[in-house]
Amino acid sequence: MQGDVEENLGAARQALSEMSVSGEVIQVKTPSAVSAVDAIIIPGGESTTIGRLSMAGDTLAALRERLNSGMPALGICAGLILLSSQVYDRRMGSTGQPLLGVLDVRLERNSFGRQRQSFETDIDMEPLGITGFRGVFIRAPSVTAVSPEVEVLASVDGRIVAVRRGGIVGTSFHPELSGNAALHRNLVDAARR
Ligand code: GLN
Repeated sequence: MQGDVEENLGAARQALSEMSVSGEVIQVKTPSAVSAVDAIIIPGGESTTIGRLSMAGDTLAALRERLNSGMPALGICAGLILLSSQVYDRRMGSTGQPLLGVLDVRLERNSFGRQRQSFETDIDMEPLGITGFRGVFIRAPSVTAVSPEVEVLASVDGRIVAVRRGGIVGTSFHPELSGNAALHRNLVDAARR
């Protein structure tokens, strides 16, 4: 709907080619596109905008149903916010925005400051076998609480920045901007399984 769409189409195609897996990467905007795919990336951008646009035409509801029945997903930054079950803003409190609620985590929006405070740092996600991954943080959220079924994959300065439940992975940072398709390969892997 909005955000880093082109970059994710590129990174997903890169992952398929690096794995020699044949597959098609398509942009998803409608419930029929939601039912056509084996896995989905919800990109970074503006979570309120992506959520609002996805409510129109019931794409959000169709997506929630697929995710609840086990479709793998990669939620990036705003995409992680959409996957979550509870979101707040340090100044405004609860944001009241539309959410998918398929990852039982609590998130703080813009947790690392404004656009100007964007930064990059190396991330290790041991449970995925991915280390030294360049994490690009742009007005990123952090995870402030997780339910027992959610696994923490990585933290930065004591703040949780990557989580997983089954085939659903969420990151505060932008893997499509790192030049490394490891997290996109992980999604292809989950789709194949
Ligand atoms: N700050 C944005 C939000 O809360 C997310 C930023 C991003 O996806 N890079 O929706």
